[in-house]
Amino acid sequence: MDAPRFQAPLFLAHGSPMLALEGGAWGARLSALAASLPPVRAVVVCSAHWETSGGFRITTGAQPQTLHDFGGFPADLFGLDYPAPGDPALAARVAELLGQAGEPVRPDPDRGFDHGAWVPLRRLFPEARVPVVQLSLPRPRDPRRLWAAGRALAPLREECVLLIGSGGLVHNLGLLDWGGTTGPQPWAEAFEGWLLERLASEQPASAMGWADAPGAALSAPTTEHLDPLWLALGAGDGGRARTVFEGWQLGSLSLRCLAFG
Ligand code: ZN
Repeated sequence: MDAPRFQAPLFLAHGSPMLALEGGAWGARLSALAASLPPVRAVVVCSAHWETSGGFRITTGAQPQTLHDFGGFPADLFGLDYPAPGDPALAARVAELLGQAGEPVRPDPDRGFDHGAWVPLRRLFPEARVPVVQLSLPRPRDPRRLWAAGRALAPLREECVLLIGSGGLVHNLGLLDWGGTTGPQPWAEAFEGWLLERLASEQPASAMGWADAPGAALSAPTTEHLDPLWLALGAGDGGRARTVFEGWQLGSLSLRCLAFG
């Protein structure tokens, strides 16, 4: 009998929405990564761009729309869509698992996929045949809450479900360097290095103490792009992070993508 094939949870940086048009090395790497995965039955994605108060919400529509939740970009970007089907049965299963962990989940039959979800998913599964459900980021948030939710969802890995957190380890739109910088700002590099050291250690959960890291205030001035990391970390069930892509945009946006376990 074949050994069970677990899906390693992923943390994917989605950078600027322009990555949907000009994916470059990031897009090529995600495409190659998808080709290396065990067969994926469905995806659960938690993106930085869906925050909800009062607890988790989940998409339950059979055919969620593509949300173009950004402004000031070329018209071509607004012409892209991601027509992956939803998966109401999987959404119910996610709600069941989180409910058992003390996190009630409210269904949202009308919510579509935001760009934090569909920009990387277009690279992973361009044919948009793999069903997708999107889970929100609840407010108020804290790393432990999201980590615990990820742990509760870990059994889905054995059901050929790919769990994805989509955000960015470093994300500061106020300090973008438009001067052609291809590498990170020093504070951004220091912060990401601190995170990676812990995420790759024997105690990856120690990364949840990120607020004490050098460069933390500049690297995560708001936490929504970092927070999906904790869900992926929890779903990794103690597994260490390994880098599947590293890169930067404009000095203050990390494109690093991780797999857990
Ligand atoms: Zn974003």
